[in-house]
Amino acid sequence: MKTFSLLNLTSCTGCSVNILNAFNDNPEWLGKTLRYSEFLLSIKEKRRTDVLLVEGGVGTDEDFVKLKELAELSDQIVVIGTCASFGFISSFGNYRDIGELMIMRLGREKRGRLPCLIERVRPVGEVVDADMYIPGCPLPGHLIAGFMMDETPKVSKIVCAECPRTLASGKAPNVVPDYGGLAPGPECLLQQGYLCLGLVTQGGCGAPCPSAAAHCIGCRGPAHYLADLPTEQRIEKVIDTLHRRTTADLSLLRKELSAPTSLLFLYPFSPEFSRPPGYERGRVL
Ligand code: SF4
Ligand code: SF4
Ligand code: SF4
Repeated sequence: MKTFSLLNLTSCTGCSVNILNAFNDNPEWLGKTLRYSEFLLSIKEKRRTDVLLVEGGVGTDEDFVKLKELAELSDQIVVIGTCASFGFISSFGNYRDIGELMIMRLGREKRGRLPCLIERVRPVGEVVDADMYIPGCPLPGHLIAGFMMDETPKVSKIVCAECPRTLASGKAPNVVPDYGGLAPGPECLLQQGYLCLGLVTQGGCGAPCPSAAAHCIGCRGPAHYLADLPTEQRIEKVIDTLHRRTTADLSLLRKELSAPTSLLFLYPFSPEFSRPPGYERGRVL
């Protein structure tokens, strides 16, 4: 069993909660292996460990210093979740000026206290050399459990390969708008008109969403064949792949992919996303 530190940077802590969920049946495991976690167990003393798990983007001075310190004390750095891997939700403030964000948060009188924000929230791999990435929002519990137990989990190239539904061969007659509810039929969700992103998304999660009749929104990030493309071609490839499986015209498809939840999760597919250093086949679970 590997010993580990868990570091929460700028994040919602959902990935850390999923680590707890993953070890629900084996709670004593945490007591034996966790050496540092301010969030889960209020352990503040930094110690040497086999693995450092890092959640969230690097968004503050404190994030930066703690990450560097703990990286020095760990043999392996594992980036957990889509925020830590790509910036993702933790980096959406990058589109605003820091001064503007402070005023939004504190008011013009600047009452209250905020951490010292750095100019741009950065993915973990831009600050330290990452050995392994486990994206997902939140990261899939069975992947981190397998990794920590030295049982390398199987990861498919795309979500469709893990989905119990059979990929559509025919074209959908329409497109179901975002928030269109759960799919009624047992067929592939694309065939039913839902813009399921299973074809373009990195596998490994076990396809829980399409299994539960909800379309995949791509939280694991782009499949490698897309991540390898030049950034400006990536979103067009997503649109093209979906278009080949629906009868909807391109403008409708683009409109639906611009709906709030689609936009949120399409960020790692967009031209804004650049693959962090070390994010390559063989180093992604
Ligand atoms: S990847 Fe999702 S669950 Fe994990 S920290 Fe980011 S927003 Fe939270
Ligand atoms: S439902 Fe989605 S994930 Fe499943 S086969 Fe169809 S497109 Fe792929
Ligand atoms: S099916 Fe898609 S949205 Fe659901 S967990 Fe897997 S990658 Fe994320």
